[in-house]
Amino acid sequence: MQLGTKTTIGLLISLCVIPAPALAVTVPVEDYLARQTLKGYGTVADDAYHERHREMFPHNRFQNQFTGIHAAVDVEFTEPFDLRRDVTVRAVADGTVIQVADVVGYGGLVVIRHTAPESVTSLYGHLRLRGIPVRVGQRVREGQRIGVLGSQFSAETSGARKHLHFGVHKGPAIDIAGHEQTRERLRAEWYNPNDWLRRHGAAALNPPATPAQVSSPPAAEAPQSPEPVEEKETSWLGKLINWFKSLF
Ligand SMILES: [Zn+2]
Repeated sequence: MQLGTKTTIGLLISLCVIPAPALAVTVPVEDYLARQTLKGYGTVADDAYHERHREMFPHNRFQNQFTGIHAAVDVEFTEPFDLRRDVTVRAVADGTVIQVADVVGYGGLVVIRHTAPESVTSLYGHLRLRGIPVRVGQRVREGQRIGVLGSQFSAETSGARKHLHFGVHKGPAIDIAGHEQTRERLRAEWYNPNDWLRRHGAAALNPPATPAQVSSPPAAEAPQSPEPVEEKETSWLGKLINWFKSLF
């Protein structure tokens, strides 16, 4: 197939000036922020915390006694409606599955290594092991389903309530610690997952500006233009793209 000169020039320009799309990230479960009601990043699992947990879940035979500083966020699905349904868990970014295991304290656990938007591993705990459709070594895409939450107070969650433990560990190495013993270690090893998702543009953590947040004057005060005004592109990239479009 012969390409015309215009087409060839256009293709060359598009390769040079159109940036690659930013690598997207997404939240791992629905209602991700609203359901972080019990244990956030940095929450101290001390005696007071365990007492509160016992009061909230008095019928749980497996009261966990982990101590330390929580290195992840917990997203809760403990309402009666939540207990009766499967809650889908998704990969937060493109990556490679590096661990699928049944781990004491977690039940089903998935760890994914990401090289972009930066080198981290993401950790998803309390999944139903037999409901995990991905295998070690498998490439996954951002938003791909990697499992469902395990049943509350069962072996699937290692006896825990129904919730997702979601952590973002710095660098490529596997680390499945749920808690750290010092703030220094916490900061050295783990990102705050909410900050990480927000920083990389997860839509659920970056809501569009509401009218109240827009600083332009109210519409009533804006001068009315009798004629529609053609928008002028002023950036060099915009001008170049317009010129590129004019070739066809
Ligand atoms: Zn947790």
